[in-house]
Amino acid sequence: MAVFCRNCGKSLADDARFCSGCGGQMQPPVAPPPYYPTTTVTRLVRPRMGRMIAGVCQGLSNAYAWDVVWVRVITVLLTVFGGGSGLLAYVIFWIVMPEEPLIFPPGMPPGVPPPPPYQPPSQ
Ligand SMILES: [Zn+2]
Repeated sequence: MAVFCRNCGKSLADDARFCSGCGGQMQPPVAPPPYYPTTTVTRLVRPRMGRMIAGVCQGLSNAYAWDVVWVRVITVLLTVFGGGSGLLAYVIFWIVMPEEPLIFPPGMPPGVPPPPPYQPPSQ
């Protein structure tokens, strides 16, 4: 990915700090905002909460703000009356949609409970 000078529009290397054309200082790249899966789900993922089978219908309804009940009804109707196309689509989505990443509270490694408070031995 090339960066471009904001003054003269010259294409420069990614790690260039000064423009070789006009000598202007390059702006450091702006870091993308952190990804919080719990607040706004924009990616197509299979959520871990609210799923019935694999979370495909719940993930689609989360991503596009659809009612999950209608997504499930349409999937079942397509499976029964659409020659199994609903089931086929469900299996394809199941394969291609990643599972929602696990979320842990900050500073706590997964699977390790906090140590119990120290109990002095009774006399
Ligand atoms: Zn320049």
